Amino acid sequence: MSIEEAKKEILAVFPDAQPARLFLTKQNLELEESHGFTPENTRFAEGGCSDEINEPEYQLMERYWGERFKFGGLAGYCHGGKSSLAAVSHHIPEGEGRKNLLLLAGPHIGYHRGQWGRVIRPGQQSLSDSCGSLAAALRTGRDGIRNKTMDPLDRQQQTVEQMVLPYLDGLSDTVGPDILDATRFLMERIDADLMAIVVDLQRGFDGRTAVITGISVNTAYGNFFSPHRVQVLSETS
Ligand SMILES: [Zn+2]
Repeated sequence: MSIEEAKKEILAVFPDAQPARLFLTKQNLELEESHGFTPENTRFAEGGCSDEINEPEYQLMERYWGERFKFGGLAGYCHGGKSSLAAVSHHIPEGEGRKNLLLLAGPHIGYHRGQWGRVIRPGQQSLSDSCGSLAAALRTGRDGIRNKTMDPLDRQQQTVEQMVLPYLDGLSDTVGPDILDATRFLMERIDADLMAIVVDLQRGFDGRTAVITGISVNTAYGNFFSPHRVQVLSETS
């Protein structure tokens, strides 16, 4: 599989997908040129999965904006919740009397030779799950999730399981879970929960918040990004 073949196959499923590095670089320039976000007045925060596979883009963003705040965790859900976003809203440098928050969030999924949810990682020969947390939740299944008792040592995974439960409940008994559908389901939920927190936070925050959400597609040729939301909320919105 060449990079061009992989790109074609990814675009057939995610028509808006671009190389993640390219997409995010364009967003950074747009935020700076059209909205006045600069490294001197902006704090970048990300809510990605713990998986190191998405790290190149977070490091790219960090190099542009400065050290990042993390509010995510397994499966790219905003596990840090209201407390984490309230905290980062107090960590913004105030250059030129303005302050801005830049949030990047969303789930991720591997793609390799027609197979969704799997990827070859650097230095490895065989495929592994991506997103491993989401794949594990789907394997646990609805009965497995319902019959679990609360485990304080596995809180994030249990949160992910509870989130995918409505997706699993929606499947008929003859159809198994599909990681692509589950990732899209998760995208909606992550975006909705993040926006509920952000809109609430914005009321007491005298700056602007840019929100970028989308699905990261991990391949042996690097990551692609399919945007779900690109929005700048102002003090008055
Ligand atoms: Zn993951």
